[in-house]
This record gives sequence, structure tokens and C-alpha cells, in this order.
Amino acid sequence: MPEKHLEKDAILKVVNVDGGYVIRYGGRPVKFIHAVDNVSLELYPNRIVGIAGESGCGKSTLAKIIYGAIEPPLEVKQGSVLLKVSEEYEDLLKADRAYVAKEIWWKVISYIPQNSMNVLNPMKKIRDSFIETFKFHGMAVDKKEVTKYISEVFSTFGVPVDAINAYPHQLSGGMRQRIVISLSLLFDPKIVLADEPTTAVDVVTQLGILTSLKEWQREKKSSMIIVSHDMGVHAYMDDEVVIMYAGNIVERGEAEDVFNDPLHPYTKILISSLIKKGEKTIKKGIAGSPPDLSNPPPGCRFHPRCPFAMDICRREKPPSIEVEKSRFVACWLYAKR
Ligand code: SF4
Repeated sequence: MPEKHLEKDAILKVVNVDGGYVIRYGGRPVKFIHAVDNVSLELYPNRIVGIAGESGCGKSTLAKIIYGAIEPPLEVKQGSVLLKVSEEYEDLLKADRAYVAKEIWWKVISYIPQNSMNVLNPMKKIRDSFIETFKFHGMAVDKKEVTKYISEVFSTFGVPVDAINAYPHQLSGGMRQRIVISLSLLFDPKIVLADEPTTAVDVVTQLGILTSLKEWQREKKSSMIIVSHDMGVHAYMDDEVVIMYAGNIVERGEAEDVFNDPLHPYTKILISSLIKKGEKTIKKGIAGSPPDLSNPPPGCRFHPRCPFAMDICRREKPPSIEVEKSRFVACWLYAKR
């Protein structure tokens, strides 16, 4: 998005980020999978922004870059992730790694990873995982104190306090998921990045976790980025939604506006695939497959699958057009020519 949309009071500004995976053979780079292509977005206090799109569209890679968790083969070619710490912005992509791990992660920005139910150490009781986290962040808490600290966040997520004495394998997947989410929120971070926070759980558990996450966010007035392929999750959670396709943001706006009146052909198909209450028909998916991101099609990356593709779509990449305040779409159908 253009610079003029980067408002001063944003808590997080992602500016022209380009990144992806370098595939090496015999130590030499042979391929670059361009998963995130010139992406910009902002996050404001007390807001939930959803990042939506099919698997492989770059949304989880973008989440990793925003968190600053950049490990090979992931590389960032350009851009900034400006996080407001106190009154100043710090670029997470340029900051010292040890400083980010100790002072920024968990305290200012926290990450709920995909399949988080499997990240707990199977050899440790839940209590010890929490004590370890406190210690890493310079808080000396003993076995008794840890129960006091976690009781509030455990009750928000429906975890009985005595689960702290269990080993992970003694708990259900849904309970482990709730515990990892509680662990991520332990220090009341200003920003929470949740990557597919409920994909591995059943629908009832999913609704419970999402409701708790939203209640926690509203109460703490923190900000949240929810990454999910599931448009139902976005319809339930988001204040604003960002639609990604093949590494690009193709539409962005207030969630209510995007769900009521999607503009981009890809967004229209995503939203029409949502099953409405009482509907019994099986919805069609999107014809074709997402492109190979090491060799994406020229022009609009959606053109091979788009029912409205025109000549210009095959040649030129559409710009991001602000069709109304804070509503953007990258599609030639909306360009004034
Ligand atoms: S730019 Fe063209 S191909 Fe791309 S979504 Fe719009 S109409 Fe379809």
C-alpha cells in the first residue's frame, strides 16, 4: 500500500516486505520461492486483523516475517517490520536477535504457532514449561507462584488450574492447545500473532478457543493478527481482513464490508464457498491450483483461474487501488483507464 496510509498511531507497520525460501543444492541457491511479494499493512491498537487465503498463499510466511522469526531457508529480501515499542518504532528485521528474543517476543509481540498443541515438551510437566518461560524473561517464580500467575489466563481459556501438574500426553489435544495459547498470552503482549490457532481441533473446541481469544483481546485491548485459510474463522473474529493470493495482498478492508460486498474475483469465490446457515448444497471450490511461487505467472497472478481475465491481466500486475477509504483491491476491473 502507498506510504500515505501508514498512519502515525499504528502499533505495527509492515512496509514493502519481500521474502521467501531459498532452495539450495550442493550449497548453491537454485530456486527462490517468492512467498511474500511487496506486502504492506498496518495494525492499530485494539483491532483484530485477519490474513486469509488458500494454503501456500504466503500468509504463514508473512506471519513469521512479522514476528521476526527468520531462519533459513526463509530470507527477507527487502522491507521493514516497524513495531511501536514505547513511543518509538523499532525495525524487527534489523534489531539484534538476542534483544528481540528477550525483550520483544512474548512481552510485546507473541506468537501462537500452527499445530501448537504439539509444541509442549513431552518430558516436562506443564508447570515446568511455564517456570522455564518465566525464567527466560528474567522472572524468578517458584512452583507456588506460577499457579498464582497462570490462574487468570487459564480460567479465560477454560483450563483447570490442576492441569499444571500434568504431562502433555495426559491431556487432550484441545486442552494442550488452550494451554499453549495461555502460555503465549502470559505477559499480556500488545500484539498476538495466531497462525491457524484452531485447525487441529473439532468444531466445538474451535468455537470455544476463538471466543476466549476474542474476549481476552477485547478485555486487554491488545491487537491480534489471525492467520487462517478458514473464512468462517475470519467472519467470526476479524475487524479488518486482508486477502492474500500467491504472495500478494489482493483485497483489504473492514471485515464487514469485505464479507458483505467482496470486490476481487478471488475474494468473491472464497466468500461464496462459506456454507450459510440451513444450506445443504456442497459448495464448489476454486477451479485450478495456486501458481508455482518460484515461477509465478506474469501480470495478475490470479489470471489463469479468473473468470474475468482480460488481456491486460495477462501482461501487467494490477496496482493496489483504494476504492474507498481504507478499502483496497488489486484488480484491473477497478482501475480507471
Ligand atoms: S486483474 Fe484481471 S485476472 Fe486479476 S482478478 Fe482482476 S480481472 Fe481477474
